Amino acid sequence: MITRATPDDVPVTPDAGGVRARHVVDTSASRFARLSPVPLDAVTVSDTFWSPRLRRNNELTLRAAYEQCLTTGALHNFARAAGTASGPFQGRYYSDSDVYKWVESACWALAIDDDPDLRRRLDEVVALIAAAQAEDGYLNTYFSLDRVGERWTDLINKHEMYCLGHLVQAAVAHARVTGCSTLLDVAVAATELVERRYRPGETYGACGHPELELALVELYRLTGERRWLELAVWQLDSRGRGVLDGSEYLLDHEPVREQRVVTGHAVRALYLYAGMADVVLENGDEDLADNLDALWDDLTGHKTSITGGVGARWDGEAFGDAYELSDRPYNETCAAIATIMLAWRMLLRTGDGRYRDVMEWTLFNAVLPGLSASGTEFFYQNPISDGGRHRRRPWFECACCPPNITRLLASLPGYIASTSTKPRDSIWIHLLIGGAVSVGLGDGTAVTLTSTSGLPWSGSYEVEIMCETDATFELRLPQPGWSAGAAITVNGSPTTAISDAGYLVLERTWTTGDRVRVTYPTPVRLVEAHPRLATAHRRVAIVRGPLVHCVEQTDHTVNVLDLRLRGDEAWQTATLPALSGVSVLTSTAARCPVADQGLYRTFDPVTSCRLEPAELVAVPYFTWANREPGQMNVMLPLA
Ligand SMILES: [Zn+2]
Repeated sequence: MITRATPDDVPVTPDAGGVRARHVVDTSASRFARLSPVPLDAVTVSDTFWSPRLRRNNELTLRAAYEQCLTTGALHNFARAAGTASGPFQGRYYSDSDVYKWVESACWALAIDDDPDLRRRLDEVVALIAAAQAEDGYLNTYFSLDRVGERWTDLINKHEMYCLGHLVQAAVAHARVTGCSTLLDVAVAATELVERRYRPGETYGACGHPELELALVELYRLTGERRWLELAVWQLDSRGRGVLDGSEYLLDHEPVREQRVVTGHAVRALYLYAGMADVVLENGDEDLADNLDALWDDLTGHKTSITGGVGARWDGEAFGDAYELSDRPYNETCAAIATIMLAWRMLLRTGDGRYRDVMEWTLFNAVLPGLSASGTEFFYQNPISDGGRHRRRPWFECACCPPNITRLLASLPGYIASTSTKPRDSIWIHLLIGGAVSVGLGDGTAVTLTSTSGLPWSGSYEVEIMCETDATFELRLPQPGWSAGAAITVNGSPTTAISDAGYLVLERTWTTGDRVRVTYPTPVRLVEAHPRLATAHRRVAIVRGPLVHCVEQTDHTVNVLDLRLRGDEAWQTATLPALSGVSVLTSTAARCPVADQGLYRTFDPVTSCRLEPAELVAVPYFTWANREPGQMNVMLPLA
């Protein structure tokens, strides 16, 4: 038996003066969750790829985000609402959420590494938020002073419950990490206003931008108060009833129990689906679960770019129709993060590795590109082809993406591993990141898995089991979709693992010092799209392991738009001085010279293109736009 937390329906309150397990998403007592995540403070990351990135996030990116909250006036708005600053409201009507996401990020960062300066700033910001709250519990600085009469009058556009949702998530993180209820008390008081105004069973109410739903479920998980789960369900069931003008864009076109086609604003849709998945984890709602399966199939089967980016339309940051995926999709960074949020919840319910695959793929190829190598500049949109003008920026007037990246990276250790007890004790590794994972078995035995990983540059992964006494459990390691035929040894002897829904399962009685080594083949693969994806017709992406690659003009003397692949290229790995620590791929491919050719001409299959050899350098897509601007392409034409 692996120790699980308090069963459902038993109130869980923050320990007085103590610190709760630092889960990001806590399904340890969720009745319909198969998996329970290992809390992020029971995970230590020691990984050549991830450690410097997580350190940079917690030191540089978090600091830059704080400075931006200062300079954009987002923090000033709270001081103004608290009566300690004057002047007009600054920024967008949802800028409070930037601060809340920064608070959440800071909490996750402090859960792993104490940083006195960060802790001091966090304490100051939390005190500022608390001071800005009105006596009746209301807290939204856009409406605090100037627009008191406009509160709750524009659920479609004004994001009041969206901001509240981020406050709740920040408060949950704060309570779990600090053991202090200061921010939690603020969030509960503010949420009780929504509870009274849109009382379950009486008055429908939902926000034009979902977010509160999933936050309410996490609040339920923290406090054990069932009213928050009931309010989350009520918020979901308020859709499809005209509360938001029946808008398909706002996911109000039909009840959530009938929504089976991915549509609307991408981030809003995915936050809504994540909230649905959270509810299913708690109450096992079969209708919602069935719809989520259909939505997932539509999302990944028809509406995802090769990079894992989603939300193809620039018009409205929205999903397009099936196969409506151009080479310049919108692909908002937040939408990729939301995909991971949804996939994580689906994985926790089912233990199905296809959700793990999407998490990993999206993390490497759709989230990491959103952050510069310096750690201080961000992409909002993520096209897979560009002429050199799309560059990362320090912040945005609509600043949703940067603090979303900081909170995901700060909490990443919480997504590495989980445990399950049925049908037998299992320890699951989801992300192949080196470090240590500690869990406690039901008989009191402490087990620590210490791993080293060559990912994403090589497919080597090794884990050593440390336990006080011999321990019997299943070790479940990823069987990624990008790799076939993994070779496994236990203590040096070749071993066969059971393959189960995307995981390699090794069950035995383990002795301390046992070592499992997995070698995942990582050949270069050329990946083509579905024939109906017209813009990718006769084009392929260069993929190795979990990394999508691209070509950038700066690495080539010929125009990269002229490059062609035959499909039988021999590939080598190399490094570039300007991309330290990054492995790139090189090959002799082909180019189609186009001198003196007009934009259009009559097609002649014989003379249309005379190929010449050309050297090709493919860099991981997440590294693009960190050097001089120029043409970039992911999908390359076949010769
Ligand atoms: Zn965003």
